[in-house]
Amino acid sequence: MSRPAIAQIRLDAFRHNYQLAKQLHGGKALAVIKANAYGHGAVQCAQAIENEADGFAVACLEEALQLRQAGIKNPILLLEGFFEVAELPEIVANDLWMVIHAQWQVEMLLVATLAKPLHVWLKMDSGMHRVGLSPSEFASTFARLNGHANVAKVVLMSHFANADNLNSQHTTQQIEVFKNTVSSLNSQAYTADFSLANSAAILGWPQTFANWSRPGIMLYGADPHFMANTQLRAVMQLNSQIISIRKITMGESIGYGSIFTAPRDTIVGVVACGYADGYPRAGVEAPAAVDGVITKLIGRVSMDMLFVDLTDIPSAKIGSTVELWGDKVLVNDVAKAAGTIAYELFCNIKRVQFRYSDKQ
Ligand SMILES: *Cc1c(COP(=O)(O)O)cnc(C)c1O
Repeated sequence: MSRPAIAQIRLDAFRHNYQLAKQLHGGKALAVIKANAYGHGAVQCAQAIENEADGFAVACLEEALQLRQAGIKNPILLLEGFFEVAELPEIVANDLWMVIHAQWQVEMLLVATLAKPLHVWLKMDSGMHRVGLSPSEFASTFARLNGHANVAKVVLMSHFANADNLNSQHTTQQIEVFKNTVSSLNSQAYTADFSLANSAAILGWPQTFANWSRPGIMLYGADPHFMANTQLRAVMQLNSQIISIRKITMGESIGYGSIFTAPRDTIVGVVACGYADGYPRAGVEAPAAVDGVITKLIGRVSMDMLFVDLTDIPSAKIGSTVELWGDKVLVNDVAKAAGTIAYELFCNIKRVQFRYSDKQ
């Protein structure tokens, strides 16, 4: 038998979540599949919704080319646009859309010689202060781009820093900044497309529903508000098996650093999954399910193995299935135990076998 650590990727769940995102938002949606679809497999995820997706968003040209080479014809937005001017001919040749987030990109785009004008998403820094043009330079930059021979269309966008926190005033402030800045463009007879909402906004901030949304994490079934959202379906089912069982008596310790000392006689299951597979080493006491019964990790996660407490699951045996996250064990609960977010857990998964399934 080969190593039983398996990431089952359910493409029907991915499609369901995309449809849900569109329905909640009400407009068009770019499915964000950057970073290999948050570790799920960008080509497989794209193909699962290519007949219905309004478009895809990725981080860079290389990620977009992978999709084009796999036959994906939908619009694809480069979320950071170009990194050097030499990319522009390929961006044109592959019919990609690109974000313009910095003044240096504007200058290079406007002097480039292009075979065709480019479809631009002009990004405003409405308060996150990562990338984007400041509100004060936004209107003048828009005026230079709009109608320029190298520019086919300009969509206006911004991104939220705190949409996952429903108590934060920051999102409301960002919306205000965006609206006020955009209203100064209306005098330039601008009747275009806008895009604000990521997953956290789609799920929590209906006032951000401009006509394009950009859902990412919710497509993979995790609610960025850390809620148990029953409308979303887990896409990745990360499973492995028990490969060894031992009894330790009260007072004995297990694993590296002996960080777990048994408070009672304890049955310990050893599971074939570790931090080299991307399971978080910090996930001490994270939940897991053995043959469908919830228990928790004990001891330190090692490179190839981790421990679960089987004391209250007498039916557990060698070969029992261990769900590390998926339908029963929320990836958000593992993330919480590890002091991180579902995004990072998904992106880190590697070495395990990936198996794809799709129920039409
Ligand atoms: C990654 C990203 C998204 C998707 O965010 P989620 O929180 O995963 O929904 C949307 N917009 C931009 C600009 C991004 O970089």
